[in-house]
Amino acid sequence: MSCQAVLVLPGSAQSAALGEVEVGKPGPGQVLARTLRVGICGTDAEIDRGEYGEAPPGAERLVLGHESLLRIEGTGQLAVGIVRRPCPELCPNCASGRWDMCTTGDYSEHGIRRLDGFLRERLVIAADGLVPVPDALEPVAVLVEPLSIVEKAIAEAWAIQARLKWAPKRALVTGAGPVGLLAAYALRQRGLDVWVVDQRPPGSPKAEAVAAVGAHYVDDIDKAGAAFDIAVEATGYAPLLFAASGLLARNGVLALTGVTSGHHTVSVDANALNADMVLENQVIFGSVNAARAHYEQAVADLGDWVKRWPGATERLITARHPLADFRAALGKSPDDIKTVVEVGG
Ligand SMILES: [Zn+2]
Ligand SMILES: [Zn+2]
Repeated sequence: MSCQAVLVLPGSAQSAALGEVEVGKPGPGQVLARTLRVGICGTDAEIDRGEYGEAPPGAERLVLGHESLLRIEGTGQLAVGIVRRPCPELCPNCASGRWDMCTTGDYSEHGIRRLDGFLRERLVIAADGLVPVPDALEPVAVLVEPLSIVEKAIAEAWAIQARLKWAPKRALVTGAGPVGLLAAYALRQRGLDVWVVDQRPPGSPKAEAVAAVGAHYVDDIDKAGAAFDIAVEATGYAPLLFAASGLLARNGVLALTGVTSGHHTVSVDANALNADMVLENQVIFGSVNAARAHYEQAVADLGDWVKRWPGATERLITARHPLADFRAALGKSPDDIKTVVEVGG
């Protein structure tokens, strides 16, 4: 049996195209699943530009897509695919289920690196690479994967701050893309006063998404105030890293979750940055990917949000395209938040 998929030729630009792939039969420890929908993010666009991505061993092409919502054949269980798989050497972190902290760097990732992704109608997947989702969350569960990135960064921040008696009150989020907005929602849920900075004008859909959960939106970081106990940088635009670190409170923590390719030169008073970090016990750390526990936390938090803020989480999905029209999903407008490809019903 074969099915339709979006395939890319890693390293070459604008190569994404519909094609046929073999589905295969599930072996021991594997299940057959149907893809309901797939979220698209900057990583997919980067892979389509030929800047990133690696085909599975022995293959020329890679099936795109890593933000999944699947239905398992037979049981009918809804599930989200965990993006990363452990390194073959099973380093100490991979061996203990923390492949997001893989030491060797030899991990593989669905739709990104050495493993086919989810932009296909059907697939065979390892059962231990799935996180179950209750049916009630079907409308929003495609957000589990990007939210897992946020859950990890927040869990890391809280783990780091176990170094002191910490009662965070003020949070800063730079960037109102999906990761920034999901971070804002997660920090509001945890009772913080949240300030989100983005370039879109007040009244734009991103600003409305911020207001929907009682957070504050500003279109200039200078309007956000200061003394933030926690900051989450979600743009990857490095100058914001320095701007955000300058707004941290004493003992504050800044999580970096974004990357931008290319170069950007910015002049920084390195002595002042050093002095602030030393004299105010500040921490800046980077965070990528997520482990199973973070996906599970994402499922739990989404369940909370749909009750706490009716309609708000659903509205983060701003555009839907059928599989045949996947290319429209790869190029998004500045007011789009999360674009999804509807693969199958
Ligand atoms: Zn993504
Ligand atoms: Zn590893």
